[in-house]
Amino acid sequence: MVKEHLVAPDVLVNLKAIRGMDQIDTQRGGVKIGGLITLDNLSRDQRIRKEYTVLAEAAEKVGTPQIRNAGTLAGNVCQRPWCWYFRNGFPCLKNGGNICFSASGENQLHAIFGGGPSYIVHPPIPLRH
Ligand SMILES: Cc1cc2nc3c(=O)[nH]c(=O)nc-3n(C[C@H](O)[C@H](O)[C@H](O)COP(=O)(O)OP(=O)(O)OC[C@H]3O[C@@H](n4cnc5c(N)ncnc54)[C@H](O)[C@@H]3O)c2cc1C
Ligand code: SF4
Repeated sequence: MVKEHLVAPDVLVNLKAIRGMDQIDTQRGGVKIGGLITLDNLSRDQRIRKEYTVLAEAAEKVGTPQIRNAGTLAGNVCQRPWCWYFRNGFPCLKNGGNICFSASGENQLHAIFGGGPSYIVHPPIPLRH
């Protein structure tokens, strides 16, 4: 958006300059995963593949190789949920209304596993809706 002159922020913080934030460290029986790790590197890490297999499998299923090479774990977790109605401002449950339009509307890309009230797709890492 900056490159296309759509926004002109006074300050821009480059998170990628923070050293070590793309690393995975073993800590007290678990792992600490830096938010700047790419989805591709996360899915290929041998510790994650062995001990947190579902996380590696989820990361390697995201989008395309280009997306996984550029997209980071933190960016994926923090992305806005995918729903055509929500993103276009329809007054659905998530936008403060009292109906989920996707239940009977445009829902080809939604995650309909057993019921709502909202059927939005989430990033691989489960978030509360
Ligand atoms: C074609 C396409 C297909 C896709 N398919 C899938 C899919 O199948 N499954 C899926 O889950 N996702 C999918 N995505 C979404 C994709 O995974 C995310 O857009 C990507 O992971 C975002 O990562 P990013 O590092 O580019 O974050 P950005 O887009 O740069 O940021 C996303 C948000 O996170 C915040 N953020 C980023 N990094 C940090 C940080 N270190 N700390 C705090 N906040 C941060 C940003 O401020 C912003 O609000 C797809 C995207 C595209 C374009
Ligand atoms: S799934 Fe339904 S309630 Fe959730 S954001 Fe989409 S339209 Fe709104």
